[in-house]
Amino acid sequence: MADFDIAIAGAGAVGMSCALWAQMRGHRVLLMDPEPPGSGTSYGNACTLATYACLPVNDPSVLTSLPGLMFSRDSPLSLSYAHALRNPRWMLSFLANCRAAPSHRIAGHLADLLSHADAGINPLIEAAGAGDLVVARGQLSVWSTGKAGKAATAGLERRRALGVPWREVGPDEALEMEPGLHLPVKRAVHFHAARHLRDPQEFITRMHRAFTELGGSTLTAAVEAVRPSACGVELQAEGQSLTAGHAVIACGAFSRRIEGTGTQKLPLGTERGYHVMFRDEAHRVTRPVGWDEAGFYAVPHANGLRLTGTVEIAALDAPANKRRLAYIARKGAEMLGALPEPDSEWLGYRPTMPDSLPVIGRSPQSERVLYAFGHQHIGLTLGGITGRLIADLAEGRQPNVDLAPFAADRSYA
Ligand SMILES: Cc1cc2nc3c(=O)[nH]c(=O)nc-3n(C[C@H](O)[C@H](O)[C@H](O)COP(=O)(O)OP(=O)(O)OC[C@H]3O[C@@H](n4cnc5c(N)ncnc54)[C@H](O)[C@@H]3O)c2cc1C
Repeated sequence: MADFDIAIAGAGAVGMSCALWAQMRGHRVLLMDPEPPGSGTSYGNACTLATYACLPVNDPSVLTSLPGLMFSRDSPLSLSYAHALRNPRWMLSFLANCRAAPSHRIAGHLADLLSHADAGINPLIEAAGAGDLVVARGQLSVWSTGKAGKAATAGLERRRALGVPWREVGPDEALEMEPGLHLPVKRAVHFHAARHLRDPQEFITRMHRAFTELGGSTLTAAVEAVRPSACGVELQAEGQSLTAGHAVIACGAFSRRIEGTGTQKLPLGTERGYHVMFRDEAHRVTRPVGWDEAGFYAVPHANGLRLTGTVEIAALDAPANKRRLAYIARKGAEMLGALPEPDSEWLGYRPTMPDSLPVIGRSPQSERVLYAFGHQHIGLTLGGITGRLIADLAEGRQPNVDLAPFAADRSYA
């Protein structure tokens, strides 16, 4: 008999949710990570259960704005051209998916998955005793120019057609909802079904506590290799060898680094993102507020005001780009008025396939290896449903979500 039914590599929002779902279903689960649960990209995000976020970064507007990105210091999207040239497969596929037809198809698949997000995460919030961390005040998106506000209409209507509820809010009402805004608000939309977590890492820590209390095991070690066979998987982790019925690869942007998983063949890339924290300024906003043109959010985190977002397409191991951090701090002051010096800064790695769809399903090489990565901008939101789907697959159950669009061996264009 194998040591465990299911061994999970990675204890971020996705891996931890897989572990807790499987443990709640009564399996013998091992969670493996060299770092504390929730301390990777899941630590520093915009805290939003963004059930509205079905429009991918792959958008026709990227194709027209690309030349400008090369020179602008004021763009929410930045690209390392050296990195792009070293990774032509990811880059070309990403750009091909910016055409209107694939972009709309991707939005449909993301909307389908997002429609199950609350059903995936709510049981975990309850099991973790984390109801006090959840705030149901929606998300407010604002535009500071009439031109950008108008340009957003097509995307907003597409979301509505895909079942995402939102409400147009006039500039006066937006300022009543968020009096701390200093922007000239020209358009505002309230995604009232969205929620946010006051502290994503605390949520994951509490999930880990619930997992442990239910009998789950944790090994603080990096998984180096997996060796699947017909009846199970052998895992190597820092000198230890373990066996499990199934292995789940949930290492976010680092999911290609484990030998024997088959992930090395997949075009997993990263969209890097940043945050800056201001310890005593959380009162500036009462819910996540996204300044659309600037590509970032102001979020009331339990530990202060968090300004976070932007997309930087660059290597996993490249140093933090100080210009990105300066951009967020500068734009934050435009959005909210003068701010003190930040108390901390952070760089994180969104795990992104070039079609912005996650990979959720069996490895094409072995049904004993399950993939759960590539959740790009919405891994906090989709972790819960991913965990439930992975538990279904490990049990040989038919999931109630069509997983074909998320299969590893799909065409990435
Ligand atoms: C600026 C920014 C803002 C964001 N805002 C939001 C938001 O508001 N809402 C939302 O839903 N999403 C948001 N996201 C996206 C979200 O944070 C990610 O999609 C999510 O954190 C990915 O979770 P993960 O578990 O896949 O990866 P991670 O959180 O990175 O976890 C991966 C784990 O794998 C571990 N690991 C790595 N290698 C190994 C190994 N060999 N063996 C074992 N373990 C290993 C790492 O230590 C890490 O703990 C944002 C992201 C960024 C960068």
